[in-house]
Amino acid sequence: MRSNEPADPVAERRFGTGWISGTMSVALGIVGLLAVACFHFPSYLTIPEVRHLYPLVWVRLLLHAILVTAFLTGCTSFVLRGDKTLGTVGMALAVVAVLLGGSRVPIDGPTTSGVYLGLDYVLLLFVLYALIFIPLERVFGRLPQRVFRKDWKLDLAYFFVSTLLVQVTTFLTVAPASLLFGWAQGGAVQQWVKAQPTWLQFLELVVIVDFAQYWIHRAFHVVPWLWRFHAIHHSTEVLDWMSGNRQHIVDAAVTRGLIYIPAFALGFAELPMVLYVVLVSVQSVFIHANVNFRFGRLSYLFATPHFHHWHHGVDREAIDKNFAIHLPVLDMLFGTFHLPADRWPQGYGVDPNDVPSGYLAQWAYPFMPQRTRRPAMTPDGPAAPPPLPDPGPRHDHRP
Ligand SMILES: [Zn+2]
Ligand SMILES: [Zn+2]
Repeated sequence: MRSNEPADPVAERRFGTGWISGTMSVALGIVGLLAVACFHFPSYLTIPEVRHLYPLVWVRLLLHAILVTAFLTGCTSFVLRGDKTLGTVGMALAVVAVLLGGSRVPIDGPTTSGVYLGLDYVLLLFVLYALIFIPLERVFGRLPQRVFRKDWKLDLAYFFVSTLLVQVTTFLTVAPASLLFGWAQGGAVQQWVKAQPTWLQFLELVVIVDFAQYWIHRAFHVVPWLWRFHAIHHSTEVLDWMSGNRQHIVDAAVTRGLIYIPAFALGFAELPMVLYVVLVSVQSVFIHANVNFRFGRLSYLFATPHFHHWHHGVDREAIDKNFAIHLPVLDMLFGTFHLPADRWPQGYGVDPNDVPSGYLAQWAYPFMPQRTRRPAMTPDGPAAPPPLPDPGPRHDHRP
């Protein structure tokens, strides 16, 4: 009997044990069930502005494929695995989703409401990124990491909550710029900016937004009370395609609200703005991914995983380096560029790492009294100076 064998998590999850198929089945079953809910309640669970961007026929086809795969992988797991839980749950989720209408639920109710969640956006992005990055990290992984690595639930929670609350995050991004520069819309400068070719506006956006982002990001590192919020993003000790989601809401809202101001004030057109949002979404997943890609001289032109992994490095040489999200040239200009061609950081995270690992505890963390007083908090340098020439623990920002 398999259930009487000594528990060995690695052996229990090997290919052929039914664990991979069972996990896939449950994950796809959940995605399928939530997608069916989106069809039933489009006014509350989908984003009105984005809905027309994806063709419904293809979404229904994708949902059908997801439900069939969930059921078949559930069957596979049920046959292969001694413990039938994963297979049974996966199959049950798929069956319930089909009984609730599956991919054929008609959309006949109201499709707009005042308040909505971006569940469609959550599911589409999750399926898309999982399909691209899980195989990519399997084949080109820099470190041998599992998909369900340390704190995967935490990073998944960040992804789900921040994407679901898209109405709130969009409002927080747009409101400061509208309040400050709403009056400037339609002026001569804005007309001139808008009249430029889309590709040129897009390139200008990359430069302008990343310039603003560079200094805001740098401020989050060097101003101690801001660092408390940004420390959440740096608390991850594992980098992969899900890691970039870990960001405190204050960090995300302040950064996005401020970088949107120049883009809005200058009057860029909607299409280049949308293209930029797509770029930043894909690139922020990509630069955290656990992939061993080398881009040669191109890594001086745009931010790569190698470049951003050094930003997360726990090594002393990596402290406060590589703030750009798109353009490493900004770090070269302002003296914070660090990209050893032949090495990656020894590890990731912050030292000391007093950030709690719970989702709600991380929300509260910046507002709590500090248990360990960091050297960066003292006006005259570190409280307990490390031996020279040691530059001190991570984020030791001596004046
Ligand atoms: Zn940072
Ligand atoms: Zn990052």
